[in-house]
Amino acid sequence: MKIICVGRNYIDHAKELGNDVPDEPVIFMKPKSALIQPNSPFYYPEFTNELHYECELVLRICKNGRYIQQRHAPNYYNAITVGIDFTARDIQQELKKKGLPWEKAKAFDNSAMIGKFVEMTSIADKKNIGFSFTKNGEEVQVGNSKDMIFSFDVLVAHISNYFSLNIGDVIFTGTPAGVGECSVGDELEGFLGPDSLFKLEVK
Ligand code: ZN
Repeated sequence: MKIICVGRNYIDHAKELGNDVPDEPVIFMKPKSALIQPNSPFYYPEFTNELHYECELVLRICKNGRYIQQRHAPNYYNAITVGIDFTARDIQQELKKKGLPWEKAKAFDNSAMIGKFVEMTSIADKKNIGFSFTKNGEEVQVGNSKDMIFSFDVLVAHISNYFSLNIGDVIFTGTPAGVGECSVGDELEGFLGPDSLFKLEVK
């Protein structure tokens, strides 16, 4: 499986990091080894002093395809959840300054948390999916799919022009504003609407 991620897909988040609003999706990937396995501990990585959470809506691909047309895109994902795109922000800023690739900051082991999937059929309006994220019980990120610059269908179509999509792949669709640091001992929890879909402690 592949973990495909979208950067800068919410205007307010692009602005908070001082980035331009993109005119086409910003895409990067994480390897399978980035996935946090169920019930395994999450340790603060040794190589960073600024570990950020980015809570995002995550789609699950249910059909193989490439060069997918936007109007057919809804047939290619059947479930959604919330997840965390963990980012070593200090390392990312250094790499960005030098114009180097982001992998060390974004694709390291355990940099992808994925919550429990919810079937797409139980979502009333996919252009209005609210989600939120708490740190130690305090709400630090709130998002809604209606604020995405590129919709799910635009993303699926765009990504499939470059990378074949395969059953089981997942797409992190970008983070809203409010990203911030986590520390050892923090309790992180992600919600789709009122439902808690993951809980994670930083060890
Ligand atoms: Zn992200």
